[in-house]
Amino acid sequence: MAGQCIFCSIIARERTAHIVHETEDCLVFLDSRPLFPGHCLVATKQHVETLLDLPDPLLKPLLAAARLIARAVERGLGAEGSFVAVNNRVSQSVPHLHVHVIPRRKGDGLKGFFWPRTPYRDEKHIEEVLASLRAGVAAAGR
Ligand code: AMP
Repeated sequence: MAGQCIFCSIIARERTAHIVHETEDCLVFLDSRPLFPGHCLVATKQHVETLLDLPDPLLKPLLAAARLIARAVERGLGAEGSFVAVNNRVSQSVPHLHVHVIPRRKGDGLKGFFWPRTPYRDEKHIEEVLASLRAGVAAAGR
């Protein structure tokens, strides 16, 4: 699948991405068009199109990774909460299962399904956010 699927090629390290964290079954990387800095995608390493296709043995590893990242955005980035979401087919632009973990703050402007995109200022900004997230992952994993 790595040849055709964008996320499979990221998982195979054939395409670059800003990787936040890796588990046995999942890879976590920054969304390239983040709603807010620190917007992460938690993707299964196995190519599965939607949540409906997820094999039972991967349910817990996927949710555990999403929970870890939800903790990491609070501990690492100082988010007040998070929005955790999966698009299945409708509004799903990449047909490889992934959980969006989006840092939230009260009054951040995210209303319903109007999602304002917030680009990173530059590569340095990305590196700063990555470092904070990785520190958050380390703290969340303790
Ligand atoms: P969805 O529309 O729910 O399938 O989400 C797919 C997400 O993947 C979108 O938010 C895109 O910004 C993001 N995306 C697409 N291509 C890449 C990529 N090469 N690296 C990182 N994020 C990506």
